[in-house]
Amino acid sequence: MRITDLNSGREIGANCMLAEFGGVRVVIDSGLHPKLSGRAALPQFDKIQGGVDGVILTHCHLDHLGSLPLLIRQHPGARVYASAATTLFVRRLLNNSIQVMKRQREETGITDYPLYVETDVERVENALAAVPIANPRIIGRGGEEIAITFHLAGHVAGAVGCLIEHRRKRHFFTGDVNFQAQRTVAGANFPRQPVDTLVMECTRGATKTIPTMSRSTEEKRLLKTINEVADRGGSVLLPAFAFGRMQEILLFLQESADAGNLADVPIFCSGLGMDLCDYLDAASKKTKQVKFSRQVLRDLNVLPLSRRYTQPGKNMPEAGIYLLSSGMLVEKTPAWRVAANILDHEENAVLFVGYCDPETPGGELIGMAPGGEFKFKSLDHISTLRAQVERFHLSGHADREELIDFAKDLAPKDIILTHGDPPARAWMKETLAKVLPATRVHDPEPGIPIDL
Ligand SMILES: [Zn+2]
Ligand SMILES: [Zn+2]
Repeated sequence: MRITDLNSGREIGANCMLAEFGGVRVVIDSGLHPKLSGRAALPQFDKIQGGVDGVILTHCHLDHLGSLPLLIRQHPGARVYASAATTLFVRRLLNNSIQVMKRQREETGITDYPLYVETDVERVENALAAVPIANPRIIGRGGEEIAITFHLAGHVAGAVGCLIEHRRKRHFFTGDVNFQAQRTVAGANFPRQPVDTLVMECTRGATKTIPTMSRSTEEKRLLKTINEVADRGGSVLLPAFAFGRMQEILLFLQESADAGNLADVPIFCSGLGMDLCDYLDAASKKTKQVKFSRQVLRDLNVLPLSRRYTQPGKNMPEAGIYLLSSGMLVEKTPAWRVAANILDHEENAVLFVGYCDPETPGGELIGMAPGGEFKFKSLDHISTLRAQVERFHLSGHADREELIDFAKDLAPKDIILTHGDPPARAWMKETLAKVLPATRVHDPEPGIPIDL
């Protein structure tokens, strides 16, 4: 196998890998870099010389999906293999991405935006092929064949890892993985037999695992904090990714409310996340890969966020729980806009329930001391931080120790690290060298092929 990481840097960016087996060439994921803009956010597509026989889409987060329309525009014959659930989400998420890029074009004048249009998304939709879990699918060219087999990866609705078999060699790609069960998805169900190559994500490689801290203790602390804020008459802002995390939190709130443990306050939700509830509901009915019912919106009496925002600095007109995207408080998103009404008032709280990159507004807020000044540049407003800010560890990614255990079970000859920042890769490399001394660990240089 020859493998080339097409991401632009050794980080969580535009996830995309080219894997070549004899003459058969597949691309695994085709993402968009979340922190770069314009064409700089794309993978190094120019490194793909010749045709592509298939694309494997592990899941629908934009750092894996966001540039797929351009890849398919360049390789119109290639099929896109994904889980049945994933095939249901692709169009909605890509169309949303077009809307975001169109807005960015107006605001920033980046003339490359949108990078693709609706007809490109239609082409992707037509190229999609749903592959059942644990059922090999053959992809071939000129007598050469590979078999790809999907296994559920936890992480988010529809996410899979992929085994690729070629001439008696076995190569496993984890994609983004979570071994622990969440409410909308079961934990990863990966085979633990030996493989030749393991391509492994390492998002949390630099995150120490604290033994006393678990998903359940963090959920208890989250519920307690929400209730304390409600008791003092404040509002809670829960910034959350629209796809996956928002539905997880809705189910968590419903469970708490059903048990009589959630303060009786109104719950507000924003556009895309509400919309995606319908998609997860559909996936839940059509496949066994997702567990979600949109009934939760009625049970919790979830209200849409008013289209007319309150003047920055003024408190929200109604105290409640505001579950809004984006999870990292990206500028001009509903969560960011409502934060301009939350931060100045000490009775309120911003509770982060997902990963926040330090360079995003959310990351900035997490690092800010009370009394700090938070700038809402395009609103012409500066908030003085008086609200409570907390962060809860409800990650959708595996602990680093779980990944090490998984690698030990697979005992590969080669491990290729992906989807992690430099400190995460460094910890993984060092630890794997100790526990698997016979294994070669690669931290691939972007664009440079590795021959195995
Ligand atoms: Zn992901
Ligand atoms: Zn990812």
